[in-house]
Amino acid sequence: MGNRLWHSLDPFFSRVFGDDASTDPGSGWAAGVIAVLAGFLAAGGVLCFRFPGVLTAPGLRSLYPLPVLRAAIGLLICAAIVLGLVSARLRRRKVLGLTGVCLGVAALVLGGPAAALPRQIGPGPGLGFDWFLLNVLIMTLLYASLERAAPLRPEQPVFRKGWTTDGVHLLVSHVGVQGASAIIVLPGQWLRRSILGGAGPSHAGALPFLFQLAAIVVIADLCFYWIHRAFHAWPLLWRLHRIHHSNEQMDWLASERLHVVEIVIVRALVLTPLILIGFGQGPLLAYVTFASVQAVLVHANFRSKLAARLGWVERILVTPRIHHLHHAADGPAVDKNFAIHLPVLDRLFGTLYAPPGVWPTRTGVDGRPVPEGYWAQQLSPFRSPHGTRSGDDFDEYRPDGVGVGLRVAALEPATGRRGTRADVKHRLEHDRRAAGHGRRGGLEHRTVR
Ligand SMILES: [Zn+2]
Ligand SMILES: [Zn+2]
Repeated sequence: MGNRLWHSLDPFFSRVFGDDASTDPGSGWAAGVIAVLAGFLAAGGVLCFRFPGVLTAPGLRSLYPLPVLRAAIGLLICAAIVLGLVSARLRRRKVLGLTGVCLGVAALVLGGPAAALPRQIGPGPGLGFDWFLLNVLIMTLLYASLERAAPLRPEQPVFRKGWTTDGVHLLVSHVGVQGASAIIVLPGQWLRRSILGGAGPSHAGALPFLFQLAAIVVIADLCFYWIHRAFHAWPLLWRLHRIHHSNEQMDWLASERLHVVEIVIVRALVLTPLILIGFGQGPLLAYVTFASVQAVLVHANFRSKLAARLGWVERILVTPRIHHLHHAADGPAVDKNFAIHLPVLDRLFGTLYAPPGVWPTRTGVDGRPVPEGYWAQQLSPFRSPHGTRSGDDFDEYRPDGVGVGLRVAALEPATGRRGTRADVKHRLEHDRRAAGHGRRGGLEHRTVR
């Protein structure tokens, strides 16, 4: 197991649960998957009741409506047992369904919805396992339904390549939420103290709620735009950020693939001016909620028919299409669309790429492969040599050092052959001509059905 942690857990899960039976509706597959998820959440929830001092984040404990949580745990246990039995009845291989049943029964044995809270909870730091469970519940309900209702790529499996690695990213970033939040507010608080000293509450914090929220979105995205652009342009930062770009199949979980150092740097730098200006807690909290929903949504395997019909939506807000283009493995969308909320920033700074109806055919990074597995990804920036987004493993191909905007590594993905400079020039010319005839490297039109 220890060694396995360095690799992707995908093969392990497909060995334990996988079979070659159908996953279509009525096959018992969806029932089994929901049973395992419900059982996992129920058992995790009951454990948080039993051991709150170790598992839960102190900042959240007092906020929970306990009767609602207990009712939710009861429902999840029922779902795990009933759907697990349905799945085991329908499928030839019973592991999936029975795992759901076992998790549901384990949650019951541990105390179920009536699990008692300890009389005293220590003041210790506590992991944010509760925060992780809540997010898994809300995110799967919200985004899995969106992705089922209107998938961009219906052929993409739910458990696509690298899903377990991204699951660990989700777990670690949420379990460490308390520590991370304490760190990311430090620079802003320190600057506010040293610059403004004993100055009382700020004028910004007294402005109307919606006005503050709008100002926060603009300022935060302006900061994010330039930080994100630096992460693409500076070799040392691209080492970290290329991990986020390494997913070849996009879905909501892909948004979680981020190096921990990048998470801390980006969030601290975005929060610093907001704290310095002195916006109120309410608008800040509303912004953080909006930003987390938006950041996950733009990665989803989801094509909004509404956004496609209402062209103006993409002029106001970054949509999945605009951010998927940012993740394009090659073609003219590389190093474009850096903003996460407001496409107008990319328009302003000349980096918007969003021709109507165009989606990338391929996402990911070419050149040196990013390793699979959470810990291998966290270590990879300290192992790999320098490069930038558009110069990654690529410099020797640039004719006379001029940036050409096309990535040669992508031109022969199957052979990995490097070719002479003349070959490369020829291929680039060919690609440019193709682009002139309305075809763009690495992009496709996907129309709304
Ligand atoms: Zn990026
Ligand atoms: Zn992204």
